[in-house]
Amino acid sequence: MKLIGAHVSASGGLGNAVLAAQSINATAFALFTRNQRSWVSKPLSASEITTFKALIGEHGYKPTQILPHDSYLINLGCPDEENLLKSRAAFLDEMQRCEQLGLTLLNFHPGSHLNKISAEQCLDQIAGEINLALSQTHDVTAVIENTAGQGSNLGYTFAQIARIIEGVNDKSRVGVCIDTCHTFAAGYDISNEVGYQLTFDEFDKLIGPQYLKAVHLNDSMKGVGSHVDRHACLGKGYIGQWCFEKMMHDPRFDNIPMILETPDPTLWKSEIEWLKNR
Ligand SMILES: [Zn+2]
Ligand SMILES: [Zn+2]
Repeated sequence: MKLIGAHVSASGGLGNAVLAAQSINATAFALFTRNQRSWVSKPLSASEITTFKALIGEHGYKPTQILPHDSYLINLGCPDEENLLKSRAAFLDEMQRCEQLGLTLLNFHPGSHLNKISAEQCLDQIAGEINLALSQTHDVTAVIENTAGQGSNLGYTFAQIARIIEGVNDKSRVGVCIDTCHTFAAGYDISNEVGYQLTFDEFDKLIGPQYLKAVHLNDSMKGVGSHVDRHACLGKGYIGQWCFEKMMHDPRFDNIPMILETPDPTLWKSEIEWLKNR
């Protein structure tokens, strides 16, 4: 079964994200559990946790259908000490929030070397930071999102992601989220049959299908290999409808959250319906 939803707003309380997901007939959803643009965030209150848990129970969302996304400020590959320490603390806080909410996945962008350290050093540092966070938590899987390779962001090749996973001690608690826009912008042409097969064969060969834990469904406003991260609504970008139709029939994406991060929230309900009807 395909679990399809969107990254919904949690403004006014995390429970609102559940209601927003419900209102667009989503069978999966993503959310931020803290302010994604600030280093400091209030701890979750007992009542917010209770409300969230009650609502997901009421509306039938299991933890495996929910994909929290971490703050954009966090850079586990950061070469500078002060920001690395901030990132480490915030990443642990993100994981602990997931645990408090009974959630089992945390989606994050691997990190950036900021042209101060080598890509290899940066990837190994990211693995070390994942190890630190996993050693202080129990139930949450660190889900690495592939990137478009914009600026000095790493994780835009499957080989880079494989290297991070290689350095993680507990392989049962690390996984990957494939963002279709990022994949395409990074140079994997998933817009046609040949490119699609080559891309996912390479994923299986370099990373391994058992690590695939989630998907972000976005079309791309920029061309293949552009290394520019600009999401488009489904069928309105350079990837085109074919790829998304294909994915809906591809069993490798069964039973994992498939999340729209397309730019027009008013279209999510119809995009979800379109996907479900493929
Ligand atoms: Zn994404
Ligand atoms: Zn993106």
